Amino acid sequence: MIVLKSLKEIARMRAPCSIVAEVLALVVEAVEPGVTTLELNAIAEREVAKRKAKPAFRGYSGFPCSLCCSLNEQVVHGIPNSTPLKDGDIISLDFGAYYDGFFGDAAVTVPVGSISATASNLIKVTERSLYIAIDKAINGNRLSDISNSVQFFVESNGYSVVRDFVGHGIGRNLHEQPQIPNYGDANKGPKLKQGMVLALEPMVNEKSYEVKVLADGWTAVTVDGGLSAHFEHTVAITENGPEILTLI
Ligand code: MG
Repeated sequence: MIVLKSLKEIARMRAPCSIVAEVLALVVEAVEPGVTTLELNAIAEREVAKRKAKPAFRGYSGFPCSLCCSLNEQVVHGIPNSTPLKDGDIISLDFGAYYDGFFGDAAVTVPVGSISATASNLIKVTERSLYIAIDKAINGNRLSDISNSVQFFVESNGYSVVRDFVGHGIGRNLHEQPQIPNYGDANKGPKLKQGMVLALEPMVNEKSYEVKVLADGWTAVTVDGGLSAHFEHTVAITENGPEILTLI
């Protein structure tokens, strides 16, 4: 069941979503060669606590940290560790927060130092695909119009869309219905309507879309070792169109 949010509830969701945006911005500022992902996780934990919010991912199905840090061929759910970031890496940073009864969730992929043209283009296309998804999150469209537009744009740029992980509804729970694939035929699935709040999150691979999960039970990586990028916003569908809640 898709839980619709009242205007009042959407107003309450602005707080956790703004906190997510603020924390992610501070983490991004700290990204440079030599920094470890555990240090980035510590920044996220300090900043979310300062804002009297709780990290959403720590302890979620046993995830050991608050920030997902997925490097290079890692797609999502990378676990922070003590290995320093290297010049030329790309890193996806995914963060969720809980405040006043509601969740917010967002992700960005950023360069570490100077990166290859390929990596830079992959990041650009992935970010653009998120905004294409957001533009489709309007009253009257159907869910798979989002999915189809992401797939079309990504594949037109020579990349592939991850199948095994999807976006999701969000609200009083981190993961709610509907699941939102980033691929598929248009004009299918439920009609989108005012009051839906969706975490839209295209995951885009440089080569094949196939992914596997490492022995740690969490880290998803590309099977062929190609790069992967990921962007996410929490978006409310309003009568005036999509409202991105996780902007600063
Ligand atoms: Mg999410």
